[in-house]
Amino acid sequence: MADSCLFCKMVSGAIQPDKVYETPRVLAFRDINPQAPVHVLVVPKQHVATLNEARPEDALLLGELFLAAREVAGKTGIAEGGYRTVLNCNADAGQTVFHIHLHVLGGRPMRWPPG
Ligand code: 5GP
Ligand code: ZN
Repeated sequence: MADSCLFCKMVSGAIQPDKVYETPRVLAFRDINPQAPVHVLVVPKQHVATLNEARPEDALLLGELFLAAREVAGKTGIAEGGYRTVLNCNADAGQTVFHIHLHVLGGRPMRWPPG
């Protein structure tokens, strides 16, 4: 999978991301096309294509994505002001990279609902 998947290449180090935070199971790095002053992607090191492919045994891993988002918010100074986490699944949501990732967006007010 690492051969063809962009985010697996980030995890393996074949492509070096602008890393913000890492644990043995997740990696967080800055988005190449930021949609807010802070825009970080949190990915599991294990390849899971979309949320539809997540299984009950992935529950801890999915939880770790959110705990990593909390760490990222603290490290980037957006925890108190507020931030948004987004996980896009498939075409209607606008998913373009098929290795699940949690967007962490902050540093400006967010609108609701998302478009
Ligand atoms: P999606 O639309 O799948 O939810 O989000 C994919 C995200 O990956 C987009 O926000 C896009 O800017 C980001 N992205 C795409 N290619 C790269 C890349 O090569 N490096 C980084 N850091 N982010 C990328
Ligand atoms: Zn992957």
